[in-house]
Amino acid sequence: MQPRRPGFPARIDGLQPPRATPAAAPAAGSWRPAPAPPMPQGVGLDSAAVRARMVQRLAAGGVDAQAVLQAMGTVQRHRFVDSALANQAYEDTSLPIGLAQTISKPSVVARMVQLLLEAECVRGQGGLGRVLEIGTGCGYQAAVLACVAREVHTIERLRGLHEKARENLRPLRLNNVHLILGDGMLGYPRGAPYAGIIAAAGGDALPPAWCEQLAVGGRLVAPMAGAGGQQVLLVVDRTAQGLKQSVLESVHFVPLKSGIA
Ligand code: SAH
Repeated sequence: MQPRRPGFPARIDGLQPPRATPAAAPAAGSWRPAPAPPMPQGVGLDSAAVRARMVQRLAAGGVDAQAVLQAMGTVQRHRFVDSALANQAYEDTSLPIGLAQTISKPSVVARMVQLLLEAECVRGQGGLGRVLEIGTGCGYQAAVLACVAREVHTIERLRGLHEKARENLRPLRLNNVHLILGDGMLGYPRGAPYAGIIAAAGGDALPPAWCEQLAVGGRLVAPMAGAGGQQVLLVVDRTAQGLKQSVLESVHFVPLKSGIA
C-alpha cells in the first residue's frame, strides 16, 4: 500500500476549509487524519473565522452581552440556510428560508436576544429561564436562544419549516429546545409562564396570550405595527405592578399569521 502523503487527503477537493480550532491544529510535519467538519459548497473559508468577524461587527454595533456574542460565535448560521446562500450566511442580511419566509439578520437576532437577557428576572435568578419563540423558521434563532436560556419552546405555524428546523437542529443535539407545530398567536400555555417571549413575525396588535403567559419579571420582545404603519420593536416587561411597554427602533419582519398551514 502507498504511504499517505501528509496533508494530501484533507485538501484534495479544494472545498474543505482549514480546521476550525487552532488548539486542534497539528504541529508542522505531524499530519494525522482528522474529520473535517462538513461544509457546504461555496463557503470557501474557515467558518469559525468568518463567524468571529461577524461577532466583532456585532460588538462594534453595540451588542455587549458576552453570552450573546458567544452564542452568535458558536451557532453555525450557514447550516441553517440553503447551500447556495451559505456564502452570505455571515453577512448582516436576512435570507430566504423557503415558503416565503426569511431568517432574520444576525444583528437583529443579537439585539433581540440581548434585550431578553435584560429582563428583570434574569438578574434575580442569575440567568434566563424558560423562553418561548414564536416563528421557529429554520431554527437558527432557537439554536442561539438554546445557548443563553435554560429551556426553549419554539412554535411554528408552517409544517414545512417546522420540519426543516427539526432537520437543521438534529445534529446539534440541543436537549433544551422543544419544537412545536402550532399557532403561536395563542402562545404555548403548556410551557408558561415564560421568563422571555420573542417573536420573529410581526402583527397589528399584541396577542393577549403572550402577555398572559409572561412571568412576573419576564420580558416580551416582538415586532409590531407602529403608529405610522411601519413595524417597530416592542418590549413589554411584566412587573409586580403590571405591564410596562417600550417602543424601540423600526424593524422589518414577515407577517404574523394565524392558524397552521
Ligand atoms: N426565528 C426564525 C425566523 C423565521 S421568520 C429563524 O431563525 O429562522 C418568522 C416565522 O414566523 C416564519 O417561519 C413564519 O411562518 C412564522 N410565523 C408567522 N406567524 C406565526 C404564528 N402565528 N405562529 C407560529 N409561527 C408563525
